[in-house]
Amino acid sequence: MDATGKTIREAYVEASSFLKRHGVDEPAQNGQLLLEHLLGWSRTRLYLNWQDPFPEDLELDWQRLLSRRAGGEPVQYIIGSEGFYGLTFQVAPAVLIPRPETEILVQEIMYRGKRLWPEGSGRQPLAVDIGTGSGVIPVTLAVHCPSWEIAAVDISDTALQLARRNAELNGAAGRIRFLEGDLLAPVYAAGLSPDIVISNPPYIKSSDLPDLQREVRDFEPHLALDGGDDGLDFYRRLTEQLASQPVKPRLVGFEVGMGQAPDVAALLRELGVFDRVGIVKDLAGIERHVLAERD
Ligand code: GLN
Repeated sequence: MDATGKTIREAYVEASSFLKRHGVDEPAQNGQLLLEHLLGWSRTRLYLNWQDPFPEDLELDWQRLLSRRAGGEPVQYIIGSEGFYGLTFQVAPAVLIPRPETEILVQEIMYRGKRLWPEGSGRQPLAVDIGTGSGVIPVTLAVHCPSWEIAAVDISDTALQLARRNAELNGAAGRIRFLEGDLLAPVYAAGLSPDIVISNPPYIKSSDLPDLQREVRDFEPHLALDGGDDGLDFYRRLTEQLASQPVKPRLVGFEVGMGQAPDVAALLRELGVFDRVGIVKDLAGIERHVLAERD
């Protein structure tokens, strides 16, 4: 046994109770993720070597990781990655951490898109993701809808670099066109006319930002969260941009905040081109996505 004299399992137990004392949600799971990251081990390797001595030379790094998490930094920023739709994505403080609700949006888009553009039946759609952040949406679409054309927009150059990297890491480099700019403007400027428009834009009311949980408020980029006075700025601007174009998409999917779905559905109905505008709930039963389509 080395000088610190504890096993890996004991380090894990210590971490869980330390994080719990500091008010961290899911302390055991967080401790385990940090331990895997520290050791560079897979979960399986961790379980199989539970009783190994904890390496003494990693003790200082271990304490640092734990205090970062105890100070509210999200575990995904500390370990630098998050899973989404069975894929792994790099994340950094310049981008929002992808949320599981967004997987439902991607699933809805794929399901409806495949119905509107059946494979092997001629033209395939161009799908664009507005405010792509880490790039989870276009990369997942590129992997699962190999015949679709895909583009992704962000106003942040740092976010676009990370999204590009995530495309490479998931074997989708060259499948996605990345555009820098304000919402749909760079898409239209490039002469593209999207068939599918997807967005999970910033939608928190500016006045609610101070009340967010500290993990979000103090660590995630406000550029990715702040939706203006009523939280609906980006939906209004997106629908104005759509209204300004002669050709409208056939499928639109927006993620929305709690209570916003009826207003966002109304904005999409006002465009007057969609045959169906529907609302999809997330697993917590909250109205989370607005989907509009026309035949
Ligand atoms: N599209 C990214 C995501 O859904 C980023 C969203 C955002 O930054 N508002 O995770």
